[in-house]
Amino acid sequence: MQVEKTTSGSDGRRPVALRVLHPDDMIGTEDAADDALVPTPELLAELDRTSQRLESATPMQILRWTVDRFPGKFTMATAFGPEGMVVIHMLSQIAPHVPVFNLDTGYQFKETLEMRDRVKQRYGIDVELKQPELTVAQYEAANGGPVYKTDPDRCCLDRKNKVLVQAARGFHAWASAIRRDQSPDRAVVPIVGWDNKFGLVKVSPLANWTKKEVWALIASESIPYNPLHDQGYKSIGCWPCTRSVAPEEDERAGRWSGFAKKECGLHTSN
Ligand code: SF4
Repeated sequence: MQVEKTTSGSDGRRPVALRVLHPDDMIGTEDAADDALVPTPELLAELDRTSQRLESATPMQILRWTVDRFPGKFTMATAFGPEGMVVIHMLSQIAPHVPVFNLDTGYQFKETLEMRDRVKQRYGIDVELKQPELTVAQYEAANGGPVYKTDPDRCCLDRKNKVLVQAARGFHAWASAIRRDQSPDRAVVPIVGWDNKFGLVKVSPLANWTKKEVWALIASESIPYNPLHDQGYKSIGCWPCTRSVAPEEDERAGRWSGFAKKECGLHTSN
């Protein structure tokens, strides 16, 4: 079943045609796990062309293209940040059955985990928590203590990146909610591109948005957000690697404070 309807764009800029898909359209099959997408020259050329064409598209239009291009093979990872909540809000209007998951490292703030219930309450979307094989206690016991204190890159690799590889099996495309103006690594992200690290097409519908646009939509649509943002946390990751920041500090200054590290590795090419 497909329902066609027309409504105002969630970005508040222009009317868009919304097609609400039936759940069966959005769920991958058992065989999908072995059905990896191959980055042929044709696919890479298509992604390149599409990315350029979508540079001027709204986030809703970018998501619409992705849902249509990868039916049943499109997923989203979220840490429940403001940008992620905006993408979930948009997806809830055009394709609410796109599977959404959270990389549950075992070190997330309780306020972050509570966002899962708020998403369910507001949108009826069940965000699946994807966890590493070892619990925090097992992981720390096996490594002689918290790895985030000595080798955060390895901790992120074990508790985030490897989990994403597993979570993405059977899918061909994933949505990230990163913005180009967040960091130099993120500044070069295409709207649509091949993510070599995870063997998926990566779609970044908010690449061209600013922080101001994100928060304007959150305010106008009353989108739920992590209450820690009201306590000086501009960017929120795991509690051991996140601190609140002063108003004049960079958005991501509170992440891995004291280390050169600025990214968990999900959005870098190596
Ligand atoms: S953010 Fe910190 S605690 Fe979380 S996975 Fe990375 S290093 Fe480990």
